[in-house]
Amino acid sequence: MRKKKLQPAKFLLAISSVPCTLNYMIELHISSVMYIVSVTFIKELAMEKKSFKLFYRISLSLLIFSPVCGLWAQPVQSDKVWDTLITGHFIKDDVRRKIVYIPINVPEGITAFNMQATVTDSTNNVLDIGLFDERGIELGPVNGFRGWAGGVSSKQVHITKQDATPSYLPGVINKGAWNVMLVPTSIKKEGYDWQLKVSLERTADPLKSFIAKPSREWINNKQSWYRGDLHLHDVNSDGVYTQAKLIEYSKAAGLDFMISSNHNTNSANFSWGRYDDSSILILNGEEITPFQENHWNAIGINPETWIEWRYTAASGMVNKYQEQVKLAGGLCVINHPYYEKDTIVDFRFPVEGFDAIEVWNGPWESYDENAVVWWNGMLKKGVVKAAIGASDSHRADSKSIIAHPQTVVNAKGLNRYAIIDGIRKGRCYIAENSNISLGLKISKSHSKKLFASIGDTLSVDKGDKLSVLCNVKGVADSSMVILISNNGIEHVFSNVKGNAVLKFKIAAKGIQYIRAEVRKIDRSMQALTNPVWIVE
Ligand SMILES: [Zn+2]
Ligand SMILES: [Zn+2]
Repeated sequence: MRKKKLQPAKFLLAISSVPCTLNYMIELHISSVMYIVSVTFIKELAMEKKSFKLFYRISLSLLIFSPVCGLWAQPVQSDKVWDTLITGHFIKDDVRRKIVYIPINVPEGITAFNMQATVTDSTNNVLDIGLFDERGIELGPVNGFRGWAGGVSSKQVHITKQDATPSYLPGVINKGAWNVMLVPTSIKKEGYDWQLKVSLERTADPLKSFIAKPSREWINNKQSWYRGDLHLHDVNSDGVYTQAKLIEYSKAAGLDFMISSNHNTNSANFSWGRYDDSSILILNGEEITPFQENHWNAIGINPETWIEWRYTAASGMVNKYQEQVKLAGGLCVINHPYYEKDTIVDFRFPVEGFDAIEVWNGPWESYDENAVVWWNGMLKKGVVKAAIGASDSHRADSKSIIAHPQTVVNAKGLNRYAIIDGIRKGRCYIAENSNISLGLKISKSHSKKLFASIGDTLSVDKGDKLSVLCNVKGVADSSMVILISNNGIEHVFSNVKGNAVLKFKIAAKGIQYIRAEVRKIDRSMQALTNPVWIVE
């Protein structure tokens, strides 16, 4: 008798299963088993209460809703439709010279692209990896760029139209000829073996599309001095900070703005708005690291702007990409020009297309000193570039402290256009940290109401004398404040400490610019201004 009462459930199970795929059948079987168990339990209850009417009503409800619940509860199922392993070997001479493109034929209907590259002895060897979709691998700006992970070759990469591993761009996985790009960036011994695993998946349920949320570009229009770190990395390149942590630490360091500059990818720039709370301005950038060449930064660009890096200085192609940066509203900055002493002694790109030079990168070192000498030499020749400083922070260690140093910009507001304009015009100085301030104003001795500040120009007449006013705050004991013109050091204020207002007079004759440096007793830098310009 009991067996007979369970027949409707078995019947439903049989009918429901017929049109289903194997995965869905498993789900329906689970829900049907749950149904049978539930019906058995309810029947026991109904028998006790001697109410067969109640039993049939509840059983019928379950009969209808059980498959629906099964469908609703069905987890995302995926079919791995294609899988491959490619291996190879790089020799020592391939470092930063060779690009290998691995073609991947993506069939129709793929919803996830996965890849991972590994190398032998990964502590000494580095293989960088990138991806181009069916739109092609041609040099930018128009191509199928889908991401680049420099310095983190073992990263497991997963891309769908909904999201992507940091460094990569989410989006539809279209059918066509995709390419994985491999570049050996560090080989310690004779060479290494590498392997690349690629798997393509087709997911069962529809994915939502990724919605870009770039940072806000405007906070205020208030003229002021704003502190910013112009060179910061996060997990979208070889930094360790998440975007949220980078914002948190930048705010804690006393910054008003920060510029994202991941290596050769703009992936972070699509999502800064997700973490932004309007208390810090976040500007988009990219650090371009061309083959065997010096690094440069594109700062203040649109989030969707990606700058190509696969060229050498000898190719003459950098001009094209500098134009792209400028069209996107940004600036081109020469990064840490003397940093890689072993391989890059001279800056090999033409300097004409650059707007600024990062003369101070991270804690003060001899290569920063070389960069300041180089920059000052340009100023003397009338080649004007704004000097900026930035931490180039990748991780929390003593060589990579966020906001050490920082660039303090005199801007017409805390917004993208005003900050970029202030830097372009050299209306900025570099400070070791947020406690240090440095002001420089120059006027004609007989007319002190008219003065020029950092980055501005003062017109003088023959025979005029200049009054130089230098205002320092938060400097170390026994500091030196040095006034430098195109003729060299004009004056040194010794034994300065804390806050001080310093004055100096000099004949205007022969002076083209005056700038100020604040140095500790060991001559390491605490602050450095751009010039105030003098014209007759
Ligand atoms: Zn760099
Ligand atoms: Zn960097």
